[in-house]
Amino acid sequence: MTDAWSPMTNYDTRSYWEGCREKKLIIARCGDCRYWIHPPRGVCPKCWSDNIGYEECDGVAKVYSYVVLPAARQDNSGSDRITVWAELNDQERLIVVADMVGSAPNEVAMEAPLELAWSEYRGHPVPVFKLRAAG
Ligand SMILES: [Zn+2]
Repeated sequence: MTDAWSPMTNYDTRSYWEGCREKKLIIARCGDCRYWIHPPRGVCPKCWSDNIGYEECDGVAKVYSYVVLPAARQDNSGSDRITVWAELNDQERLIVVADMVGSAPNEVAMEAPLELAWSEYRGHPVPVFKLRAAG
């Protein structure tokens, strides 16, 4: 039996998901004014150019916001689930929403430094973040 789940992609998001397959964080970027764009879309919100390219980010980020879904509110996993709004250091308000791994909720703080890691959802690599030692 095959698992039918795969990420929904369209023309704008395909590069992002193809990057995930190779465990690379590929973010859309305006070819004219160099503004990073995420979620990806076909027109730059800064200069209205449709000259959109895709570049790899290193995933160095900080906590912009986060939410905790307590284990008791979930069906199966035995641990609290943290979803983080990771603001990439490449640009202010360039935010990737992902699960956070390797930390308990009381270890997470606003602006805490993050680094990219990879997890898997039904056989597909997906980006996650973990705390990065400051410095
Ligand atoms: Zn632009």
